[in-house]
Amino acid sequence: SISKAEATPYSFFNKHTQTNIERRCLLESHLVDALKHQELSLHYQPLFSLQHKRVIGAEALLRWHSPQLGDVPPDQFISLAEHNGQIIAIGNFVLHTAIEQAAKWRSQDPSRPFRVAINISPLQFRDTDFADYIANLLSLYRLPASSLELEITEGVLLQDEQLAQHIIGQLQALGVRISLDDFGTGYSSLSYLQKYSFDTLKIDRCFITNLEKNEQDRELTRAIIAMGKKLTLNVIAEGVETQAQDAFIRQEECDFGQGYLYGRPVDAQTFERDYLSSD
Ligand code: C2E
Ligand code: MG
Ligand code: MG
Ligand code: MG
Repeated sequence: SISKAEATPYSFFNKHTQTNIERRCLLESHLVDALKHQELSLHYQPLFSLQHKRVIGAEALLRWHSPQLGDVPPDQFISLAEHNGQIIAIGNFVLHTAIEQAAKWRSQDPSRPFRVAINISPLQFRDTDFADYIANLLSLYRLPASSLELEITEGVLLQDEQLAQHIIGQLQALGVRISLDDFGTGYSSLSYLQKYSFDTLKIDRCFITNLEKNEQDRELTRAIIAMGKKLTLNVIAEGVETQAQDAFIRQEECDFGQGYLYGRPVDAQTFERDYLSSD
């Protein structure tokens, strides 16, 4: 027999069901004031040194808590902010907050290695003064450039090759590290390795997730780690959730791991308590 839903296909669009477009409009209308209303904050996820078996830094990850909409994940609002241009103001907020926080954590114990990784959107990278902006923040908050890593994705590099190369060069001249995020998921990751000089490769979570059951994923991950090391890049495996995944990347001499196994993204206070307190 035919179900009621199949018989009346358009009943799906009742007033209780949001379409994708409606959802985007709703998010966008609330996002406009999110920064002003202080609804944005950063969480920090530990970056774990596999060799030293300790946390040596954190990735800053944006969080939006809207009183009306609840928690909205970055995958849902970053692209909106990129479309309406808000990503510049939001990105600057992220840079200020994370750099200030990292400087504070570093000053608590300058002998302890600590770096912060910050995600950069393609639009931020189109500003010819971006490297100056970063240099100013580093001196404003007194964070050594070597404690800052900027994560970019292929999107950054697709726009204007010359400009991207120029900005990467300026940032590296300051001593800032540049990391290629979500490595292996794009269209031309390998050609980017040839064109640009990176300091770090972040192997996308999709290679790590099925390491235990999938021989092909093991071979790919092994090959990416070996290649990264040949190119003298730091290699980070993203999305490590199990001991078996940890054992595999360790055996392949991957430098760093990031993932729920080592720690979830948490607010600054929790990060400090859980990963930076000496007791
Ligand atoms: P990303 O930069 O690749 O960040 C890693 C994502 O993987 C984060 O998702 C993190 O919470 C998640 N993750 C980490 N470990 C695990 C794990 O073991 N298992 C699983 N299932 N997930 C794990 P999140 O925080 O939702 O961020 C998603 C994406 O949003 C980020 O991917 C990044 O592309 C973007 N994003 C986040 N914050 C910012 C920001 O401040 N600026 C910009 N431009 N983009 C950001
Ligand atoms: Mg990232
Ligand atoms: Mg990633
Ligand atoms: Mg990503």
